[in-house]
Amino acid sequence: MNILVTGGAGFIGSHLVERLLEQGHYVWTLDDMSTGKLHFLNEATENNRHSMIYGSVTDKYLLRGLMERCDVVFHLAAVLGVKNTVENPLKVIEGNIDGTRNILELAHQNGVKVVFASTSEIYGKNNKLPFNEESDRVLGAPSIHRWSYATAKAIDEHLCFAYAERGLRVSVVRYFNAYGPRQTSSQYGGVVARFIRAALRNQPIEVYHDGSQIRCFTYIRDTVEGTLAAMGSHANGQAFNVGSEHAITIRDLAYKIRDLSGSSSPIVYVPYAKAYGPGYEDMPVRMPDLARSRNVLNYEPSVSLDEGLKLSIDWFREQLKDGNLS
Ligand code: UDP
Repeated sequence: MNILVTGGAGFIGSHLVERLLEQGHYVWTLDDMSTGKLHFLNEATENNRHSMIYGSVTDKYLLRGLMERCDVVFHLAAVLGVKNTVENPLKVIEGNIDGTRNILELAHQNGVKVVFASTSEIYGKNNKLPFNEESDRVLGAPSIHRWSYATAKAIDEHLCFAYAERGLRVSVVRYFNAYGPRQTSSQYGGVVARFIRAALRNQPIEVYHDGSQIRCFTYIRDTVEGTLAAMGSHANGQAFNVGSEHAITIRDLAYKIRDLSGSSSPIVYVPYAKAYGPGYEDMPVRMPDLARSRNVLNYEPSVSLDEGLKLSIDWFREQLKDGNLS
């Protein structure tokens, strides 16, 4: 098939592109390189079934030309990261809603199947665990920028389902804390990448708050398998959690990463207000219910946390050695 991957030079996108090429598809990567990295596509660019297009999903003319030629689009391009969400909510809202609307409209016009990459953030402040796909979305206050990303992604999902009703073939995958090689970390977020980078440099590992927050980290290979499975027609018109069920506190994660990297980093505790600025609302626990993904997508996460962390640490170590980590 001819497949377009928006955000294909990013962390999840670049791994997805590689898997699609392995499966024999023709793949176009569309990326504005705002957070993507060309070298993530080194392997893909050696393949003559891959083309890289530098551009934005807000460019309708460019998109129209691509959509006329493809069968499926994986829409992963997004304005994301805690830093943007906290400091630049307008960019987050526009970047996520306008681009997705273009994708959905043009896919609808051209009969293209869409797999939309969403996030476990959309469950908001819901504290009924685990989250199944029909769980309520508990809204955070609009005056708190931190919720701008979750809200924009939730509106994107509303758009997906609205277009589904008009006949668009679309499925939604909600990612739970993906990690692995190429994970980018920012000033605040991407905890696994942040901890590994600190550990490999023997610098302090900063645990925010008391580290009792719980997450289910999902190795990139499992994230990609769940995304690929959503391409099938049986997935149309539905959202799917793509995560793991291995729950761990951030404190335990810090110790585990320090041990697995053989590091002497001190583990320090940083209050939320110092980490994010005033008013940040963190989620104490986030956990997926995988029943629907198992039943419909045949999805089963298969990489253990220890195994995934070891693979990640090896990759970050190589990058550090080659001078690729800033
Ligand atoms: N966190 C931390 N230290 C860091 C970065 C994040 O303790 O350097 C915490 C953060 O407060 C949250 C968890 O790790 O409770 C996961 O953060 P991340 O940004 O990776 O993903 P989130 O689940 O918040 O989307």
